[in-house]
Amino acid sequence: MERTLSLIKPDGVAKNIIGEVIKRFETAGIKVVAMKKLHLSQKQAEGFYAVHKERPFFKSLTEFMTSGPIVAMVLEGEDVIAKNRKLMGATNFKNAEEGTIRRDYATDIEKNVVHGSDAPETAAFEIAYFFSTMEIVG
Ligand code: ATP
Ligand code: MG
Repeated sequence: MERTLSLIKPDGVAKNIIGEVIKRFETAGIKVVAMKKLHLSQKQAEGFYAVHKERPFFKSLTEFMTSGPIVAMVLEGEDVIAKNRKLMGATNFKNAEEGTIRRDYATDIEKNVVHGSDAPETAAFEIAYFFSTMEIVG
């Protein structure tokens, strides 16, 4: 069993598609083992996206991520890191496969509805960034 961090970004929450995103996870056999809604501070967003701090879009990305509430979830399942990435689709919705969350709902390369950890090491860091072990109920 593997775990990954999923975020519904401010645009996804604003579009009122929290349930739609979760439904796709559950339909794929993925379990939600922790969940909370929160509003990131600028510092918290910068810490979360620290790997991107040299990128030209860092400032815009962290401002977007603090522009409204988000939903953070820990997902659990076999091969869930890759499975979640597949359900999400490519970063740029224009390149995302049909039937993926980003293809169906994203409107912008930055405002792309969801985040998902991309490797076991980033998943471990990102899960611990949002949740204590007591908040994760498998
Ligand atoms: P995420 O990490 O959010 O799951 P990802 O792994 O598909 O998405 P990354 O390359 O890690 O994409 O980029 C992190 C986020 O930064 C993207 O999801 C998007 O919101 C934003 N981003 C990425 N590339 C660009 C870009 N060229 N211009 C603007 N924003 C971008
Ligand atoms: Mg990423």
